[in-house]
Order: sequence, then structure tokens, then C-alpha cells
Amino acid sequence: MSETLSLTERIRRMPKVELHIHLEGSVSPRTFLLLCERHGIEPLAETEEALTEHFRFRDFSQFVPVYLAIQNSIRTADDFALIVEELAADRAKQNILYSEVTVTPYIHIWQNKGTQPEEIIEGLEEGRRRAREAYGVELRWILDIPRNLPEPSATWTTDWAIAWQDRGVVALGLGGNEATAPPEPFAGAFARARSAGLHSVPHAGETAGPASVWGAIHALGAERIGHGVRAIEDPLLLTYLRDHRIPLEVNPTSNARLKVYPSLEHHPFPHLWRMGLYLTVNSDDPPLFQTTLTDEYLRVVDTFGLGWEDIKRLVVNAAHATFLPEEEKAALVRRVEAGLREVEGDEHV
Ligand SMILES: [Zn+2]
Repeated sequence: MSETLSLTERIRRMPKVELHIHLEGSVSPRTFLLLCERHGIEPLAETEEALTEHFRFRDFSQFVPVYLAIQNSIRTADDFALIVEELAADRAKQNILYSEVTVTPYIHIWQNKGTQPEEIIEGLEEGRRRAREAYGVELRWILDIPRNLPEPSATWTTDWAIAWQDRGVVALGLGGNEATAPPEPFAGAFARARSAGLHSVPHAGETAGPASVWGAIHALGAERIGHGVRAIEDPLLLTYLRDHRIPLEVNPTSNARLKVYPSLEHHPFPHLWRMGLYLTVNSDDPPLFQTTLTDEYLRVVDTFGLGWEDIKRLVVNAAHATFLPEEEKAALVRRVEAGLREVEGDEHV
């Protein structure tokens, strides 16, 4: 018996891997309300519908206060475990086998609400255990330096990222507004993390242009770039990224919602792809942008005009660009390829 699925249905069912998703940005309006109630915090809006509306951003400056309010509602190990478990349930629903999830622990300390570092990692690890046992999905952590906060933001994050390598942390990240915080001052933190065995994955080329991406590569030893889409503004950088096979973690809807580009139709994804850059597809902060990883793949087809062969390469690209040890990565790639053959139908095997 062979079954031929529509392209949309293939994308829904196919195995996926996600490299760029923020834990705190994946909290649903319903859970945010629950956490606010749990801790006696005034929520930004009273109902799920009103909150969803509140989350409709116009630009990056409007995005930050909402993000901080969500961060402020996450306080205990139980809170962290809950939001990780919810993320895992969502992963299972979309058939996302493996995710590298960005967490910004320093914000929780800086907000001074009594959260201790050990509670954060305990909650994350309890959530990761539930993700594996209840949903069969694998997660790893990227600890993110909030680049707009003063020291000890970078030192603190780097110290804990190194200390928690045996608890699922695979990389050091750098997030926030690049326009006012270039990468170079973080060179020392990234050098320290890399020599301790962590990978380097800063955000660059989102709210600032090519100089920020060059800085991420040269000063921070970036192995993947969070976003990177504004590399389109510099032909030399495009050549460098292509020749060095540096993966870009592209988040199309996020870029349109935060007005990096006026609309999805203006997004450089198809041009970058045709130029042979190493692209991956990601959702960034899905409930905040009313998207999912599945939706992002559907947009690659519907808006950017790519086909099934491209989609398959994008999924396999993501599996190859993970920071898993070689053997685990090879096993993930095999699972992804087998799953892709399955949704393709028997006649293509
Ligand atoms: Zn991001």
C-alpha cells in the first residue's frame, strides 16, 4: 500500500529539528496567566484573548517589555519544569525530535525575585527528564548572555554555562538588541566558554547589519549565527558564510513581526537559499509571533516558493548543524532521513 501525502501534510508530519527557540518566549498566554496567579503578579491583560492581542508586536522596542514580564512570572524550579514540559508537549505535537533551546537565566537573577541559580537548572533538568519520558523528545540548552545588561551579565552566564555542561548545556549564546551592543566586548566570555568545550551561537544580523555578523564570526568564533539574515547587505560576507558553511538560524515570521523586514514577502530567505547559504528554519518565540515551526516550513513553500526537495534539505541541514556529539548526531540524522522517506510515500523509498 502506498500513500501519497499532500505537501502540506508531509510538512506537518515530517520529523523536525529546531535550533532557535527561546524557552521564555515559548510560554503560552494561558501558562503566563497561571504563573502570574501562582505568584500574585498583575498580568499584562486579564484573559488569554486579551493577552494574545497584547502580544502583537510592532517592533523590537515593544517586544522587550512583554518579554521581561514573561520572564518575571517564572520564579521557581517548578515553574521552569512546567514551561519545559509544555514546550516538550508542543514539540511532540509537531514531531520535533530534537531542539536546542535558548534560556536566559541571568535575567531571572537580575530581576531580583529570589530565584537561585540551582533552582533554574533543577527545573530545566526536571523538565528535560519529563520531555524524554512523557513525550520522547530530546532537548539541550543554550545559555544566552543578555547583551544589553551590564556586568556581571556576561561573566555570570558564562560561569554557569561552563558549570552546567553536564546538565544539558551545549553552547553559549548572545541575545538582545545588537544595535546598542556590538559583539566585540563579549570576546573574552566566548573565548572562555569555547576553551571549556562549549559551542558559540550568538544572535547577529537581526537588529544590526553585516558588521555585527562579522564581529560574531571573528570576535566570538560563531559556529552558527542566530538570524544572520542581514548578511544579505554584504556580498563579501555572503561568500564567506557560504564557503565556510556557517549555518544561519532563520526565523522568517519573527523578522516580519519585529519589522526587520516590512513583510514576509520582503524577506531575503529565497535569495539566501539560491545563493547556496547553509540555512535552517526556526520559530524563535512562537506564541509571541503566533507561529509554529510547522507554520514556518509552510511559509517557506507558500511565500518563498520552495519545494519538497528544498524542505528535505532544510530539515537535514538542521540535524547536521546540532551541537550533539558526532555519534548522537549521526543517529539523529538517520532518524530524520528515515522519517522523511516515510512521509514521502513508498514509491520514493
Ligand atoms: Zn532569538
